[in-house]
Amino acid sequence: MDKVLIVTGGSRGIGAATARIAGRRGYAVCVNFLKNKVAAKQIVDKINADGGQAIAVGADISKEEEVLELFSTVDDRLGKISALVNNAGILESQMRIEDMDSKRLNRVFLTNITGSILCAREAVKRMSIKNGGNGGTIVNLSSAAARLGSPGEYIDYAASKGAIDTFTRGLAQEVAEEGIRVNAVRPGVIETDIHASGGEPGRVERIKDTIPLKRGGKPEEVARSIMWLLSSESSYTTGALLEVSGGR
Ligand code: NAP
Repeated sequence: MDKVLIVTGGSRGIGAATARIAGRRGYAVCVNFLKNKVAAKQIVDKINADGGQAIAVGADISKEEEVLELFSTVDDRLGKISALVNNAGILESQMRIEDMDSKRLNRVFLTNITGSILCAREAVKRMSIKNGGNGGTIVNLSSAAARLGSPGEYIDYAASKGAIDTFTRGLAQEVAEEGIRVNAVRPGVIETDIHASGGEPGRVERIKDTIPLKRGGKPEEVARSIMWLLSSESSYTTGALLEVSGGR
């Protein structure tokens, strides 16, 4: 298979939507998950039922040894990867800075920043033509929060996505001559479980009137932008931060 994709956090939300569309577009897909094996298995079953090829692999991307295991499992079961969607990301309860402790900050930064960088490292090792690979594409999930700052909600999460923007620009230049393109999408308010993690499941409803398009986005609407960045349709695009935020 020449199109092999890992989607981190592919069991739910934007990652699950991306995995499903990728399966339909001829990628062999690894659906990574943290805890929700049942949801990951359901996505894999749907991809296989659509005539695609997919596997579910559990791994906590904030832990280096689990990242190594994830990539070597994909080497063995699907072959050399050509695409990575660095999608897994977390936020925690809405609060002001006075109430944030270092444990929380480290959890958010470990998953959102360290985990994404470790996964990109393993992808570059395999994709870079300098290392004997065939090139590839990486899409990182940033957020409109990197631009807006998320005051009063989760400035730590917003800061972690600012790091992803900088990482995207730097890595894109570092590996541009090695056959690898690196881009990021910055979703706005998308209808997924992530808002419940912040303690406000109804956040999309509260915010929607402040969005020029007057609604939250669907995971599939972000997934289609990710797929464009993964595809050769975007062959001259690298180091880009693509807003998918309904104009907000
Ligand atoms: P979500 O619905 O909360 O799903 C999160 C996914 O990440 C789940 O599949 C979860 O696995 C997985 N995950 C969490 N921590 C992980 C870890 N340490 N290792 C491996 N997998 C892990 O999230 P989402 O809303 O789809 O968001 C996806 C990405 O888009 C995130 O990076 C997020 O920051 C970004 N984003 C989202 C929005 C939005 O409004 N939804 C806006 C801007 C940016 P389990 O199912 O096993 O728990």
